Amino acid sequence: MISRVRGTEDILDLTLYNFILDKAKKHLHVHNFTEIDTPILEHTSLFVRAVGEQTDIVSKEMYVFNKDNDEDSICLRPEITASIIRAYFENGIQQKPWKVFAHGPVFRKERPQKGRWRQFTQLSIELIAAKEIENDAYFLKMIDSFVADVLKLENYAIKLNFLGCSQDRKEHRQALINFLEQNKSEMCQTCLDRKDKNPLRVFDCKLEQCQKILVTAPKILDFLCTECSTDWEKLTTLLGMLSVSYIVDHSLVRGLDYYNKTVFEFVSRCLGAQNAFCGGGRYTLGSEIQGSEDVPCIGVGFGMGRMLMLVEQNKEKLLIPPQPPLHVILPMDEAQRPLALILASELQSKGLCTDIILSKGSMTNLMKKANRLGAKFVLILGEDEQKNGTVSIKNMQSGSSSVVKQVDAVTSLK
Ligand SMILES: [Zn+2]
Ligand SMILES: [Zn+2]
Repeated sequence: MISRVRGTEDILDLTLYNFILDKAKKHLHVHNFTEIDTPILEHTSLFVRAVGEQTDIVSKEMYVFNKDNDEDSICLRPEITASIIRAYFENGIQQKPWKVFAHGPVFRKERPQKGRWRQFTQLSIELIAAKEIENDAYFLKMIDSFVADVLKLENYAIKLNFLGCSQDRKEHRQALINFLEQNKSEMCQTCLDRKDKNPLRVFDCKLEQCQKILVTAPKILDFLCTECSTDWEKLTTLLGMLSVSYIVDHSLVRGLDYYNKTVFEFVSRCLGAQNAFCGGGRYTLGSEIQGSEDVPCIGVGFGMGRMLMLVEQNKEKLLIPPQPPLHVILPMDEAQRPLALILASELQSKGLCTDIILSKGSMTNLMKKANRLGAKFVLILGEDEQKNGTVSIKNMQSGSSSVVKQVDAVTSLK
C-alpha cells in the first residue's frame, strides 16, 4: 500500500475547518479586506530576497526545482507574504493601503516530528503600504476580536514586542553581545554559538541556567530612538483604548529578518509546546523584491491546523449550524431503483438533503445502513408502493410512519 508522504495529512471532514474559514472571511470583509490568490509555485529568488538567504526557511526548508539554474529555479512557496508583496508590485496596485488576505497550502522541507508539517495551510492577512502606527492597533484589534468574539476562544494571550528600526536593533545587538560576553562562563554551548551568529536567538534557549541570566539582558525597548519610542507609546495607548490585552515579551523576535517595530504572537496553552497559533508584525519589503520603493506593511499568518485544534476543543461554545436533516430512499429491490433515482432527484431539486441506498439487503439490513448514514427520514419504495404510486415515510426519531403519494412526498416532508 502506498501511504501519504510523512509530514502531510488527509483531512477527512472539512466541516469545522470551513466553518472557521468562512467566519474568518466574513470578519475580514467587515474590516474591508479583499481575498486574493497567488500561485503555489514561485521563483526561488523571491523568497531568497524577501525572507533572507540566511534564514532556516530559505537555507534548509524549501522544496526547490531546477536548483542549478538561477533563472529557472522555482519552488513551492514556504509562506505567502512574499507572494502578496510580489503581486502588489507586479500588478501595479495603486490602492494604499492595500488590505488583502490569501489562504492556501505552504511547504517546508522539515524532518517530520510532532507539530511540524511539510505541507500545511496558512491564512495570510496583509495590510500593505501602511506606514502609520495606528494601523498596527487596528490590525491587532481585528485579530483579537476574531479570536475572542468570533471564535470565542478564551485560553490565549497576545505576546507583544517592539523591535524598533534597524539602527535601534544594531545598538541593542551590540549591547547584547557585550552582555553575553560578560556572562559566557555561565551559558550553555548553544547560546555561545548563537552569540556570534544571531545573538537574539539566545532567548529561545530553554535551559534554566541561561534563562536566569537572560532576565537581566539588555532589552530592545531600552534602545528605541525618539520616533520608535513615540510609536511604541502610541501603540500601547491605543491597544489600551481598544481593550486589547497583551503581555510584553522582550524575548519575542520572530524568526525572519524583515520585521521591524511591532511583532506579536497569539499563544494558547491548549496547544502544548508549539503554542503559537498566529504570529506576525510590521515589516518593510520592497527593495528586496522590486528594487525601488520600500513599502511599510503589517501582516499576520494563521496556522489553520492549530486554529482547528483550538476551535475543536471549544466548539460547543460556537453556533455551528446543524447539518440539515438527511432523507434516505430505500428501494427494496432492483425493480424500484429507477423510481428511487427519480424521487431522489425530485427531493434534491427542492433542496432536501437526500441519499439512496442502492445495494441489496433485507429490510432490517437496509434500515441499519440508513441509520448509520444518519437518516432523519427513510423513504421506502417496495413493490406495493411502486404499484400504488406511493412511498412509505418513516421518521427515524419518533418512529412514526405514514404512506403518501409519491407526487406529494416533497410537500409532506417540507
Ligand atoms: Zn528607531
Ligand atoms: Zn542556553
